[in-house]
Amino acid sequence: MTEAPIYLYNSLTKHKDPLIKHEQPIGMYVCGPTVYNRPHIGNARSVVVYDVLYRVLCHVYGKNGIIYVRNITDVDDKINEAAIQRHCSIQQLTHEVTQQFHEDVAALGCVSPNHEPRATEHIAEIIAMVERLIASGHAYESDQHVLFDVTAPATDHWHYGMLSGRAVEDQEAGARIAVESYKRNPGDFVLWKPADAQDDPSSRFDSPWGVGRPGWHIECSAMSTKYLGVNFDIHGGGADLKFPHHENEIAQSCCANPHSHYARMWVHNGFLTVNGEKMSKSLGNFITVKDLLDKNVAGEAIRFALLSAHYAKPLDWNDKLLDDSIKQLDKLYARIKNVPQSDVPEPAVLEALCHDLNMPKAMAALHQCHDTQLQASGALLGIIQNYEQWEKYRIFRADESKKITAQSTLSHEEIEGYIAQRKVAKAERNWAEADRIRALCEAHGVILMDAADGSVTYSVT
Ligand code: AMP
Ligand code: ZN
Repeated sequence: MTEAPIYLYNSLTKHKDPLIKHEQPIGMYVCGPTVYNRPHIGNARSVVVYDVLYRVLCHVYGKNGIIYVRNITDVDDKINEAAIQRHCSIQQLTHEVTQQFHEDVAALGCVSPNHEPRATEHIAEIIAMVERLIASGHAYESDQHVLFDVTAPATDHWHYGMLSGRAVEDQEAGARIAVESYKRNPGDFVLWKPADAQDDPSSRFDSPWGVGRPGWHIECSAMSTKYLGVNFDIHGGGADLKFPHHENEIAQSCCANPHSHYARMWVHNGFLTVNGEKMSKSLGNFITVKDLLDKNVAGEAIRFALLSAHYAKPLDWNDKLLDDSIKQLDKLYARIKNVPQSDVPEPAVLEALCHDLNMPKAMAALHQCHDTQLQASGALLGIIQNYEQWEKYRIFRADESKKITAQSTLSHEEIEGYIAQRKVAKAERNWAEADRIRALCEAHGVILMDAADGSVTYSVT
């Protein structure tokens, strides 16, 4: 384990702050996907950035020195709409998209977080938090909704607007929630909303305020607190989440737990753009990870390209970026082919990563590395990870334990689904596909075991 100070640009203080290590593990919560459609490479940038941060933290503090939580938003208006459009149940849609998300980020070499909580499995915690906010006068019930009152008095560590710098008057309802007459103030945001009678039963939950579903912001407050406590170290997400999502998370969490300050550091990744415009589903200028994989672009090349700019800056995606990344990776692989392994990364690479995850500087240092240190340094960046040599290039190989997570984030149904897919691949003698599925499961801490009679069991490491 290397002790190196880690600095991160904190959107809350607007400074590069040192990460303060205390006795407990570092807690990191990252806003994960809303599972209504397949992730595009803009979504993937966020996952890859925090994967590298996680690797750096593991390198510095050991894998037991950090708890990484990335949620799945599986209840949301967009999900309801998508399920109606696709004529399928919400559960079917969210399971399918979650599985696609897992496949795509595994193909990009991202390790599983320690916990991957789903909102629908945390309704009790969400309701309990909403009840506390009502009891403390920070929220009110109105016409079957519960709303957070943004004019509520400040607490020890909180006033509304402290992250985004926006005044209460500027608080708009956010893209995902419509402004309605039942609000006391236009900026008040939804903690709980009623379900429509025709809504799919899997998006309808009983509550003291009637059958309904939670607002998006309260999900992250409730789940982060459950796994990391009322105060934790790092909260990450895309720059678009700073307002209103993260501003509202802070409001809810600090008011439900009056003496807490919630996350100490707020880290935001910049957008992936196309011709300078944010890549997004709504603009239609997106490419999915799967589109690229289907064209036989290697996952590590996509990852390398996504890491080619500083995480906080915009990164413009184009064919040349990908071509250059493939060439550079080829050169790196050619260099490490016959050199002995090293566990100790080049100090300049580590230093650049520890200083606000300065990827361009770390890449430049990587290119200047001695060959013997290339493997350890590249593995730390998470860019050297071709599957045959997955374990060999991992920075964690010094640990006896091969896997980062003790618990798989794949559900039993997902694992059984992969086993079935692999069976088909084997029947078709598609060994590459069968191996890919095995590697994917392994990346999630699930070891598939083939029995002599052709049956398959699994164990979770
Ligand atoms: P969503 O599924 O829209 O909730 O987004 C999931 C995550 O991807 C969030 O952290 C977003 O901030 C992030 N994200 C979405 N689009 C982009 C983009 N073009 N560039 C970088 N991050 C993005
Ligand atoms: Zn969130």
